[in-house]
Amino acid sequence: MPRAVLLRCPVCDAVRALDGDRSDWPRGDLYATVESHVRDHSTDETKTAIRKHRAVAESTELVVSRTQLDRLPTERWRDREAATLPESLPADAMPPAAAESPSAETTGPRSRVED
Ligand SMILES: [Zn+2]
Repeated sequence: MPRAVLLRCPVCDAVRALDGDRSDWPRGDLYATVESHVRDHSTDETKTAIRKHRAVAESTELVVSRTQLDRLPTERWRDREAATLPESLPADAMPPAAAESPSAETTGPRSRVED
């Protein structure tokens, strides 16, 4: 069965598939693939770097049929809805796009009570 590495943009949720498994794709190539896309979202170098690392860290390896592989967006980034991802994709493999900034935890014990 063919394998594909699935990348997802943390900004717009677009997806991109790469033909092969992770061992076929050096990390540098994954970063370059993501960077070419996320760079369009911002000119901020830091944001681009964070998004690039996040997308690669969250990349998923898929085992697909040749037919499924042909349908995956291996040539360019595509809207996730239009990308016809294989149904066998585990639900937790592609978490929905979350807010970029970690939410401030306010559940900790208060050290001081104002009156
Ligand atoms: Zn995007």
